[in-house]
Amino acid sequence: MPLDTGPIRKVLDLEARKGYADRAVMGGLDRFLTRWAAQAAPDVTSPKQLTVLNKLKAAESGYARLSPEKRRQFVDALVGFLDTIDHPAARAAPKVPRPAAGRKAARPVAPPQPLDSPTTAVKGISDALAGKFRRLGVNTVRDLLYFFPRRHLDYSQRKPIAQLQEGKEETIVANVWEARLVRIGGPRFSTEATVGDETGNIRVVWFNNPYVARNLKTNDRVVISGRVGEFRGRLVFQSPEWEHEDAEQIHTGRLVPLYHLTAGLGPRQTRRLMKSVVEQWSGELADFLPGEVKARQKLLDLPEAVRQAHFPDDTMLKDRARVRLAFDELFLLQLGVLSKKRDWQEGAPGIAVRTDRAVLDRFLGALPFKLTAAQDKALGELLADLARPQAMSRLLQGDVGSGKTVVATAALLMAVANGYQGAFMAPTEILAEQHFGTLRQLLSRAGPPAVSEDYVCSCSGLLERPLTVALLIGEVSTAAKRDLQERVAAGAVDIVIGTHALIQKDVEFKDLGLAVVDEQHRFGVSQRSALRKKGGSPHILVMTATPIPRTLALTLYGDLDLSVIDQLPAGRQAVKTKWLKPEQRDSAYDFIRRQARDGHHQAFVICPLVEESEAVQAKAATAEYERRAGGVFPDLLLGLLHGRMKADEKDEVMHRFRRGELDVLVATPVVEVGIDVPNATVMLVESADRFGLSQLHQFRGRVGRGGAQSYCLLLAEDPSEVGRMRLDIIERVYDGFKLAEEDLKLRGPGEFFGTRQSGLPDLRMAKLSDVGLLEAARHEATGLFEQDPRLRQPEHKPLVHELARVWPQAAEWS
Ligand code: ADP
Ligand code: MG
Repeated sequence: MPLDTGPIRKVLDLEARKGYADRAVMGGLDRFLTRWAAQAAPDVTSPKQLTVLNKLKAAESGYARLSPEKRRQFVDALVGFLDTIDHPAARAAPKVPRPAAGRKAARPVAPPQPLDSPTTAVKGISDALAGKFRRLGVNTVRDLLYFFPRRHLDYSQRKPIAQLQEGKEETIVANVWEARLVRIGGPRFSTEATVGDETGNIRVVWFNNPYVARNLKTNDRVVISGRVGEFRGRLVFQSPEWEHEDAEQIHTGRLVPLYHLTAGLGPRQTRRLMKSVVEQWSGELADFLPGEVKARQKLLDLPEAVRQAHFPDDTMLKDRARVRLAFDELFLLQLGVLSKKRDWQEGAPGIAVRTDRAVLDRFLGALPFKLTAAQDKALGELLADLARPQAMSRLLQGDVGSGKTVVATAALLMAVANGYQGAFMAPTEILAEQHFGTLRQLLSRAGPPAVSEDYVCSCSGLLERPLTVALLIGEVSTAAKRDLQERVAAGAVDIVIGTHALIQKDVEFKDLGLAVVDEQHRFGVSQRSALRKKGGSPHILVMTATPIPRTLALTLYGDLDLSVIDQLPAGRQAVKTKWLKPEQRDSAYDFIRRQARDGHHQAFVICPLVEESEAVQAKAATAEYERRAGGVFPDLLLGLLHGRMKADEKDEVMHRFRRGELDVLVATPVVEVGIDVPNATVMLVESADRFGLSQLHQFRGRVGRGGAQSYCLLLAEDPSEVGRMRLDIIERVYDGFKLAEEDLKLRGPGEFFGTRQSGLPDLRMAKLSDVGLLEAARHEATGLFEQDPRLRQPEHKPLVHELARVWPQAAEWS
């Protein structure tokens, strides 16, 4: 059986994204690797690979003790090793030029260009070197051009030696007075030199590096850039960058690029290679932006932007290069989403769902509350959209507790009243079950109590006939599931509730009119498209409690229209939020005890986020639960909830908690979204610094749903700086939108939106905090689209090719 390297790759990837802080897994990477290696060893046959695994098993990596740079190298090397497991026969890419994109043949693909050749087409890149680049995701010459530096060192300001300051990054131009080898023990040598200019002299040392001495001659003119140190009261450069003054300046005396490195690819070598790649190949880049757009936005030409992004002439050009490249990303993204929206609307005739006023009024009139003005408005937008014979594609945003479910239910009811079916999809089974309960309740208020079988209920009082709602989740037996599926296919079920996965995989509808997708941020573009292909062209409503600033929503989910519920039902109190120091832990426990005893209130305890498998999460939760049940809360009734429990166990615990039979629910972050228990007043989050702001806000939203004052207590043992910032913000800010903006600033758009999962192209240069650029890109894309919706004009051809390349999964262009 082939060894699955997926989980460890995920961990390593996370570790890299977290800046090699050894925070990817609980207990540290060393422990994780030891365990992984022990599990993997039996599946590995090559002696070489076994040697590596055995080392890991002995925890010889000592990762925790490595410097950040060494850690990076270690992780890179390990990824390289995983590559040898996954592709034992991997050789250099075939030398035939081939288009990089176009996985599907139907799309117009640019004719193969020299830039699509493998990296080995570049002089100086051997098969071995190409392999190293491949590990960095760089496969073609074009990839090389777009392999931008992480950042630049500013060595552009030259200084006289007399003005050098200790601790600063400085650059000098000087004469070599002397350069010699110094033995530092055994066969190892350093280079030591004295250099000077008209203002003074300075010593330069390259530790453990005899090569420099060979290339430095007395009276050579050199440029030296690096941090100025001090040794025995005198200034010194230690292992600085250097090159001859008459050589082209690549490493010194300018803005010097720093690239991501991988094992066996040194900084100087990479820089030299990149310089020649940029010089020889950037001219081949076709500038795909329409001239007018470029002129209006005052953007650099593409080849120039690429050159300046690598080796900028000055900071101003470096910034302009980034602006151009970021604009490209956002502009292409926009065109992609707009085209999707167009295809979606044109490709499908769509179903007109008329608003059945009588049924709607009966439904609303039976509710125990009046809709808020914001709910009213959102529902109005929804119903107007549904009534058009064009498939709706709408995002409903509303803070936790703003009451999205009831709005969605009204829309589903309208679909059913028009003779269509509805689907309600939740991210987890627990939530699907909860929605099932909620809908059953909401839809039966106008008549006699709902009649229920296990997973099906029928509600009367709204329509002339009973309305049937079914729950489809994993625990349903195969036979019962088949029966349900048949009933759905025959149209005998009106609304199906389940997880995204289950409904998309297992259900064929007779006549799906509206699909509601709860918690949209976990529901990607590609999944939406797949759903759209399910029979006819249903209206789609996606809901999210993760508020996204409007511009960003329009950009990333530009194929969706947007409704916002920006108001909470009256009478909601702000949940008092407190970040506790570790030594306040006991008082937190006391507080929970008092709440439970005196007020008969309940509490959630969220276990630390473990970015690992559900199994490990489950273990952590179980341990936490046992500790508390035994030691901390012997006098309270505790329940445990985690993703590994059997569905009926979960159900049992949830119901007991909701009925008030349990005082404290210890849970993994599965309760993050949606669970509604009005009597719960305390939310205690362990290791709160590990969670994002939006997620913490979600947790907080689980309490404060009843009349009593509620509290959110955040524990953090040893928060990082960002962690502290988050905790500080969540304590002060209650507005989900403000939090989302802060989150965006702290986490960056990639993580915030999860562009990777969502099927959107990567944003490398664009920051979604560039709101101005974002608006410009959207504006230009919309304009272009209005003028040439199918991009058929000949001058737009390069643009079409670029789109097909960067976003092959976007709509078909013709
Ligand atoms: P979310 O938007 O987070 O999904 P829910 O739909 O779960 O919020 O609603 C949260 C709670 O608020 C539910 O118990 C619901 O019955 C209640 N609710 C919804 N709308 C109103 C309203 N207009 N007035 C009072 N309570 C409401
Ligand atoms: Mg909800």
